[in-house]
Amino acid sequence: MILRLFNTLTGQLDALEPADGKALRMYACGPTVYDYGHIGNFRTFLQVDVLRRFLRLIGMPIRHVMNITDVDDKIIRNSLEAGIPIGEYTARYVDAFFEDMEALRIERPEQIARATEHIPQMVALVEKLAAAKAAYKTEDGSWYFRLAAFPAYGKLSKKDLSGMEDGARVDVDEYEKDSARDFALWKATKPGETSWETAIGNGRPGWHIECSAMAMEYLGESLDLHAGGEDLMFPHHENEIAQSETATHKQFARHWMHVRFLLVDGRKMSKSEGNFYTPRDLLLKGYKASAIRLALIAVPYRRPFNFTFDSLVDATNAIGRLRTFRARLTAGAFTVGANQAIQGAAKKAQTDYRDALANDLNTAEALAAIFEMVREANTVMDRGLFRLSDRDAVLAVLKDFDAVFDVIEDRDAEPTRRALEWAKESSRMEDVAPELLAAQSLTDEEIELLVAERTAAKKARNFARADEIRNELAEKGVVIEDSKDGVRWKRK
Ligand code: AMP
Ligand code: ZN
Repeated sequence: MILRLFNTLTGQLDALEPADGKALRMYACGPTVYDYGHIGNFRTFLQVDVLRRFLRLIGMPIRHVMNITDVDDKIIRNSLEAGIPIGEYTARYVDAFFEDMEALRIERPEQIARATEHIPQMVALVEKLAAAKAAYKTEDGSWYFRLAAFPAYGKLSKKDLSGMEDGARVDVDEYEKDSARDFALWKATKPGETSWETAIGNGRPGWHIECSAMAMEYLGESLDLHAGGEDLMFPHHENEIAQSETATHKQFARHWMHVRFLLVDGRKMSKSEGNFYTPRDLLLKGYKASAIRLALIAVPYRRPFNFTFDSLVDATNAIGRLRTFRARLTAGAFTVGANQAIQGAAKKAQTDYRDALANDLNTAEALAAIFEMVREANTVMDRGLFRLSDRDAVLAVLKDFDAVFDVIEDRDAEPTRRALEWAKESSRMEDVAPELLAAQSLTDEEIELLVAERTAAKKARNFARADEIRNELAEKGVVIEDSKDGVRWKRK
């Protein structure tokens, strides 16, 4: 099976394959660790996670590199304000980023590359560009890339850059979206700022050079795929292409994947707009990590996702249905044999599911294929016509599903517990939803004891006491489910 993925560079769906016939070499732009990541950032990382998990499902080896931008204008500004070295300032957010990744079950790339640990590679690249007369040094000791040295500039974003001013410069990491300027490769030190003493002078790297240098360090001069959020297409990725291709005379990346934004009320979720939620915020409101994960991947990556709390509720319900269905499958006592209708439905679901993902990672259609099967299997079970071999066929499809979506297996308790711990440490307890607080007021052992007491009371036909315990648990956010195979409980 081959994944056909939209390629920003060619403007069409292209088959994604490793050029060397071995492993797909992919680079995805990572976070800038000046603060906690918001769910917009995580939408992008999650969609890349869908990509890597699907490639694994279809048997394609990958080598995935992600950078961490741990030096930039904002980091320097914030660490100066806090009066601490940048390494100390970013450490907290790097840890938080990995914790959030884990909570959302985002797999770790094979290689994480931190900007501050690759300064020599960046300096070498600037030197190479200087030797090619594509980089020049200004009076203050900064280095710029000369856009005029790269006539193909704009080929990724397809912007009309005809009004481009030769020699006009920009030195900040964030700048107007529509102006193409010579951009900073290396910034001379300003008083009090972190800097490195190097062959090209005392200073620090610009943002764009980072990704080029680190991608080439780990993946070679020509990558199979480069990914990031849609805002990075211009100028960041355009600049990466300009620097890399000028230095190597080779195509930098054959395939470019851009994840559309997560929006709130039609506007990009961003720190500067102030309209953002972090995964932690949502966990403290009582939403489960699995629901956040599903909501952020259920809308295919090439469609903007308008975030609402309803989308989290929908995701919670969908996961509930899947978990209940799987419990019913595993706990059910079925007659030996196979029901041809279910065998057919399972096979169709598996094909539709994989085809949907192979078609530009269409997660919405993939989900629909799975729910179609769940509906059919439930109906057949209700009629008592589900057979033992059907269970294996259906479970195999759910296994494929969870290999990419990873939400059926319930591992939600830990992220919530960690978020609560974090809220305590960072004086954010007022943000915790009351039900969530209540649900944490009993330990597992205390709940087990009450559940056992209720079972004993029911046996002794003391239904008043049994109800009393159920109500007490409900008030503390614990729900009890009686089933044929005994009593199960869970925190709301
Ligand atoms: P940053 O930490 O700002 O460098 O961003 C990390 C990643 O998140 C980049 O790939 C951005 O393109 C992406 N990103 C930022 N805001 C959003 C958003 N609202 N929706 C989706 N992706 C975003
Ligand atoms: Zn980048």
